[in-house]
Amino acid sequence: MTTTTKPVRVRFAPSPTGDLHVGGARTALFTYLYARQHEGAFILRIEDTDQARYDEASINSITASLRWLGLDWDEGPDIGGPSGPYFQSERLELYREHVDRLLAEDYAYECYCSPERLAELRDEQRKAGRPPGYDRHCRNLTDEERQAKRDEGIKPVVRLKVPLDGATSGLDLLRGPITFENAKLEDAVLLKSDGFPTYHLAVVVDDKEMGITHVTRGEEWIPSMPLHLILWDAFGWERPVFAHMPVILKPDGKGKLSKRDGAASLLALRDEGYLHEAVVNYLAMVGWAYDDHTEIFSMDDLIEKFSLERVSPSPARFNYDKLEWMNQHYINHIVDVDDLAARVVPLLVSEGLVDSVPEGSDTEKLVIEAVGLIKDKMKFLTEGPDLISYFLAEPPDYDTALLVPRKTEPDAALRGLKAARDVIAEIGVEDEEAVEARLRALAGEVDLKVGQLFMPIRVAVTGRTASPGLFETLRVVNKERSLARMDRAIAKLEGYEAVAAD
Ligand code: GLU
Repeated sequence: MTTTTKPVRVRFAPSPTGDLHVGGARTALFTYLYARQHEGAFILRIEDTDQARYDEASINSITASLRWLGLDWDEGPDIGGPSGPYFQSERLELYREHVDRLLAEDYAYECYCSPERLAELRDEQRKAGRPPGYDRHCRNLTDEERQAKRDEGIKPVVRLKVPLDGATSGLDLLRGPITFENAKLEDAVLLKSDGFPTYHLAVVVDDKEMGITHVTRGEEWIPSMPLHLILWDAFGWERPVFAHMPVILKPDGKGKLSKRDGAASLLALRDEGYLHEAVVNYLAMVGWAYDDHTEIFSMDDLIEKFSLERVSPSPARFNYDKLEWMNQHYINHIVDVDDLAARVVPLLVSEGLVDSVPEGSDTEKLVIEAVGLIKDKMKFLTEGPDLISYFLAEPPDYDTALLVPRKTEPDAALRGLKAARDVIAEIGVEDEEAVEARLRALAGEVDLKVGQLFMPIRVAVTGRTASPGLFETLRVVNKERSLARMDRAIAKLEGYEAVAAD
């Protein structure tokens, strides 16, 4: 049952009721990996039959999230395909035909119970301490009784005729056989009175019509599995393989990760400065491991090494610290500088640090060099603009006191800065080693410790006390701008001395 000779066809089938969150994204990723490693098809189907919960914007946000992660679908919205349409709301005819078949073959029945009757029933069941559920009131209506209801103008729903006893068993690729007692199942609604199918009917009909070989989805759908199996069998179709992904828990393991647990939406992660590679890599590790030590996997590695059979059915915790570590690791060590810089560029533009960064321009070269210098300090892409701001623009005004290292007098800082300015005016900034050698020698000449000389230069040129190495910073900022900034610092210090002297 777990292997199939048919070409693999798998689907990700989100309901457009909100943004894509990490649980759904992990299911989509595992499904995609399975498709790619079996050279099968990855299908995106939008399950939009619940009109009450439908949220149009979420379709765009879900597709944008999948594209950002690199989970491109072979069939689905925007691109179509041989099994379309890929929106369930456009397939109503098909569900109706299938329901008619179930009715004709006595696997389903029309139910005329009013919402009021069902509400009363639930009330009674609650009071009596019985589990809620439909009491099969309409299961055995005679033809005459049905006709009478129709004559009253009541529009029925269609319910599945679940076997009253016995059991329904199926295989889950991760868990092995699962058996459900039929007596505990409900005669679920398949078609609503407005002609829309429920999830149970639509999912089975579509999985069949789309040739789905493996149904991969979250563990929360296990309780629906027996209803789906009953439907697959009623239609006389060969069942697909089922694989339910383990639930994702909060970082502390106490309860399911929910939308309220911070940045669990994919677009939020993107906007917080996570790299899609890091997110993909981390999500793959939530419930799956290759061995007990390998942690870094590119998408290609995952396609090669991932194994759906080895996904653990036990709940997996979501660890934000680990995701953060992974992100920093990708920024610091994996993504190359040009690529990283290209991703920082839109943020530079949106923050107004530059108007545009044309390809091949000096600004682009500057951004690449600057990102190269700061990337080891960067954890999130969003930190890029601040970390490289002084390479692109004048640093904003800063507290003059920063120019005066601890245990140093302002006049000493001023003396050092003036002397350093003259050195740079003379020898420039291109030859980092020469600048370093000259400035180190200069410290002794002006009677300062090396740190007492270097810190004011750093603050003058960057407007802050922490920066990459001083000499590479000077080179990338360039001679002219470094000198101008040192002049500004000298003027600040002269004013500062004057005030201090008053
Ligand atoms: N539409 C369901 C959801 O959004 C997916 C169920 C399935 O994959 O069968 O969770």
